[in-house]
Amino acid sequence: SIPLFLHSFVFRASGLTTLPSILLIGPSGSGKTSLLTLFERGTSAAQTHTSQAPISAECHLPVGTLASSDRYRSVNDPTNLRHKKFLLVDTPGHGKLRHHALASITNPQNLKGIIFVVDAATLSAGDEGLRHTADYLHDILLVLQKRTESKNKAVKALKEIPILIAANKGDLFTALPASLVKSSLEMEISKVRSSRSKGLLDSGIGMEDEGDRDEWLGEVGSTEFRFKQMEEFDVVVEVSGGNVAGG
Ligand code: GDP
Repeated sequence: SIPLFLHSFVFRASGLTTLPSILLIGPSGSGKTSLLTLFERGTSAAQTHTSQAPISAECHLPVGTLASSDRYRSVNDPTNLRHKKFLLVDTPGHGKLRHHALASITNPQNLKGIIFVVDAATLSAGDEGLRHTADYLHDILLVLQKRTESKNKAVKALKEIPILIAANKGDLFTALPASLVKSSLEMEISKVRSSRSKGLLDSGIGMEDEGDRDEWLGEVGSTEFRFKQMEEFDVVVEVSGGNVAGG
C-alpha cells in the first residue's frame, strides 16, 4: 500500500483535503496513529512512529453506513451504495507540536468532528497522564468555545461540533471505564480551569475584566466543570470506551 507520507502529499496536491474531515487529536502515546492505521487499512499496525507533522488518511466507511443526515433516504437510494469517504487527520500529541492541532481547528478544512483519544490506563487520580490530558483537552475546548470570536470566517461558520473522547486501551486492566474517564477528566479540567484563572488574578488582571472571562472554560460562576457546559457553545462532548489494539 502507499506510504502515508505519499498519500498525504497526493491529497494535498489534488486538493482533496476538502473532503469532510475528522480531526484526531490527543496526548502522544494515546493510540492516534494506531487508530488512523486501523481506519485506513482495517487492521492495526504492529508499530507506529512518533509523528512530527499531521498525517492524513482517506477513509471509507463501509458500504451501507448511514450518516444521520441520510436517515430519511430510501434504502434503495444509490448514494447509500457508495463508500462514504472522509479524511482523518492525525495530529501530533507532543506538547511542542500542538500548534498543528490548534491550526487544524482555527483553519478547518470541512471539519465535521473531533476524536480526542486518551489512554484510559493513565487517568487515575494523581497520575501525571491525567493532568497532562486534562490540560490539553482544556485548551482544545477553549479554542472551540472561543471560535465565534474568530476573525476567520471558516472557524466562525463551524456550527455544532461533535467531540468524541475515545477512552482507548480498555483492554488494559488499569484502564478506567468510560464513565470514570469522563468524571476524572471533568474533575481535573475544573482544577486546570481554576489554576489558570488564579494565574490571571495573580498577574493583576482581575476576572472582572471581560477579556479574561473569555479565558474561562464553560459556565461562568460554576465551581465544577462539566462537559455538558460546552453545549451552550454548540460543542457536544461524548465519552466512549474501547480499544484499538491489544485484547
Ligand atoms: P499516538 O502517539 O497517539 O499516535 O499513539 P500510538 O498509536 O503510537 O500508540 C502508542 C502505543 O500504544 C503503541 O505501542 C500502540 O501499540 C499502543 N496501543 C494503541 N492502542 C492500544 C490499545 O487499544 N490497547 C493497548 N494495549 N495498546 C494500544
